[in-house]
Formats: sequence, structure tokens, C-alpha cells
Amino acid sequence: MNAEADALSAARDAVKDADRKHVFHSWSAQELIDPLAVAGAEGSYFWDYDGNRYLDFSSALVYTNIGYQHPKVTAAIQEQAARLCTVAPGFAVDVRSEAARLIAERTPGELDRIFFTNGGAEAVENAVRMARLHTGRPKVMSAYRSYHGATSTAINLTGDARRFGNDTATAGVVHFWGPFAYRSPFYAADEAEECERALRHLEDTIVFEGPQSIAAIVLETVGGAPGVLVHPDGYLAGVRALCDRYGILLVLDEVMVGFGRTGTWFAADHWGVVPDLLCFAKGVNSGYVPLGGVALSPAVAATFATRPYPGGLTYSGHVLACAAAVATINVMAEEGIVEQSARTGAELLGPGLRALAERHPSVGEVRGLGTFWALELVRNRATREPLVPYNAAGADNAPMAAFGAACKKGGLWPLIAGNRIHVAPACNISAEDVAKGLEILDEALSVADAHMA
Ligand code: PLP
Repeated sequence: MNAEADALSAARDAVKDADRKHVFHSWSAQELIDPLAVAGAEGSYFWDYDGNRYLDFSSALVYTNIGYQHPKVTAAIQEQAARLCTVAPGFAVDVRSEAARLIAERTPGELDRIFFTNGGAEAVENAVRMARLHTGRPKVMSAYRSYHGATSTAINLTGDARRFGNDTATAGVVHFWGPFAYRSPFYAADEAEECERALRHLEDTIVFEGPQSIAAIVLETVGGAPGVLVHPDGYLAGVRALCDRYGILLVLDEVMVGFGRTGTWFAADHWGVVPDLLCFAKGVNSGYVPLGGVALSPAVAATFATRPYPGGLTYSGHVLACAAAVATINVMAEEGIVEQSARTGAELLGPGLRALAERHPSVGEVRGLGTFWALELVRNRATREPLVPYNAAGADNAPMAAFGAACKKGGLWPLIAGNRIHVAPACNISAEDVAKGLEILDEALSVADAHMA
């Protein structure tokens, strides 16, 4: 080994040692994990201290929408740090005003006021608080197949199994089934029937809960963590109509799908639906500095025109995060990254992933939009039995663990969720890297095929 390799190995060991001793990791049994030590990142790749480069098909946690280390955004952060690194949230500041203006310009309808938070869960918490205060009603509805964050209200809103360890049953949340034609909770024969039955189920739930007690329906515009669930045409418009009928606010959670992920600025743009409140985070500045927020309709904003809003955060609209947002949004516009995401989905990822499904019997379904896709892996295509059971751990999860390991061995960092791989590369991934990623997936899927029943 040469001196440079020795130094890198020593650096890796030091990083891992301090991590093991002092960092408490999210969602993990601390002694059972072995986090990879990352040495650097650029564009669609990151690398470790041992010379392994990974094509990131997870965009970190689905947030590096413009890739890592975009030079215009890192320069904007440096410039802001040198000029004014922080200032209290109560002041009007150029870069915060500009970030809010750029976001408001892109949000659907007249959602023109922005409340800034540090991330997605806080955005959802505040949207729920706003909805409760605006309507004077206590309950909030959300889908079983959903993820809305890990703070107290947000994790109780969450439908998926990450709620189980936190379920206080006190957050005034009512869950319902959204449409999901591949695993229809309504035994529907097709998407149109699924949509109609899901809307009927939602209305029944509203009526039996008592509409006068429901402040908001919180919905991911496209379900992200629950499996890239693209709602059938008509569903979101139907939910909007139910909200209007019963005086309920519609909160669209665009934390994962906003800012180009699905090939439009916001996923709601695909269906022309305007919520009362819209939550964003992640892609707003590609996650370079923590930032999230809520865009408010004029009616909700008016509730707090002369009555103080009883909520706030020390770092609301932090100027470093806002500088990163301004630079990111400008880069996305200048470089046509939203359009690129749409094209990549329509011309490369969609056809490429469907071709993989033809070759690999373990792929039960391919679904997605833009640079946001999922492959549903099954033990049996006819029964659609998932390759691993819901909320699997340990030995039960072995087939997906083996598939994930094969992806990494090939040089692709996958986002594995239950029995699915979510394909969410940077929205500006090159055609060459899409092809490379598909090739690696092709090999890794043979491992999944071998685990079929
Ligand atoms: N809402 C959605 C749809 C998400 O996907 C996430 C995170 O993945 C959140 C909220 C929570 O965001 P954060 O982890 O920034 O609090």
C-alpha cells in the first residue's frame, strides 16, 4: 500500500471510530449498524475512503435534486456566509424575501405566503397547526400508506410502520386507505374503479368521523416513502371536492416530490389541483442546508392577519438555507432541470425500467414519473406476494438485503423500502449514468429472481 492509501485508511478508521462512539443514528439499533464512511461527493456520485464510487440512485434521502456540490449553489452559500451568516427570523432580509418570492412564484394557485421551517416534519406540524386554528376543528386525516415525518404529530399522521414505535394515539389523527391499484384495498378491477371506490371510502370515513371535527386531509401528492404511489387521474380532484364539500382544508405534502422530482415544479401541477396548504423541504435547496416550509393560501394567511400565529422557530428562514434555495431554484430554471427530469422519466427511466421488468420475473410492477420510480419486487407475479413481508426484519428481509448488496457491489447506491427499490437519482442525471444504473440493476435483479418462490 502506498502512503496515500494508508492515510485514507487511517482517516476512514478515525471517522468510523468516532461515529461508533459518539453519533446516535436515526431509525437504528445502534450496535447493529455499520455506516459507510463517505469521503466526498459530486454530481450523481459519492465515494468512500477505499476508492469505491457509488452512483446515487437514492439522491441521499431523495433530496439532492440537482446532484451533489453544484458549484453555483456552494458558491452562493459561501458568499452568504461571508456577507451575513445568520440573522433572527423576525427581520426582513434580502435573501429570505427572494427565496419566498421564488417559491411563491412556483407554487400552485395563489399559495403566495411562505412560512419557513428547518425540514419536512416541521412543515407538516405547522400546516396541521394552521389548519386546526383556521377551522377550529381538532382532527386530521391521512393515508395509511404515507410518511409525513418523525416529530410527534407528523409521526402519528404517518401511516407506515415507522409510526408503531411512537403511536400515542393522542394526535387526533384518522387514517384512511388511498388508492393503490396494484394492491387494491378496494378489490377494484382497474384504476378508474380504484379511484371511485377510494373516494367513496374517504367520504364514508369523513361522514362517520363527523366532518365538523375534521380540520384537514394531509396527503402526499405522489406517495413517496410508501412506494412512489401515483394517484389515478381524478383522485386528487376528488379529494379537493370532498374537502370543499365538508369545509376541510387540503394539505398537500410535497416534501419529497416538490422541486422537479416528478418532472414538474410541484407534483400537484400534473393534475392542476390547488391545496390550501402545501408543505415542502428537501429539493427546495437540494438539501445543501436544512430548509422546509409551508405555502399558505390567502384565506389561511388571513386567519393570522390580526391574530398572532402561535408558532415559530429560532432558525425559521435561516439565511444560509435561503441563499441555497435561491441559488438552487435559479440553477433549476437556468439549466432546465425540471424539464430534464420529465424527459429522463419519459424517455429513459420509464422505458428502461419496463424493459428490466420484462427480463426479470421478480419485478411485479414498475411505476413512477420524472426521476421518481419504484420497482415492486415479488415472490410470485400471479399472487403478487411481496418478495419480503411488510415491515420485515432479520431473516425475513434477507432477499431484499441480498438484492441491495448486489446493487452496491455493482457501484449503485439503492433506496430500498420494504419489498421495493425506489429509483430516485438526481433530477439532472446524465443519460449515460441512467444507462449505467440500469445495467447495474439488471445484474442485481438476477439476485432477486433467485429468491422467488
Ligand atoms: N413528508 C414527506 C412526504 C417525506 O417524504 C418526509 C421525509 O422523507 C417528511 C415529510 C419529513 O421530512 P424531514 O425528514 O425533513 O423532517
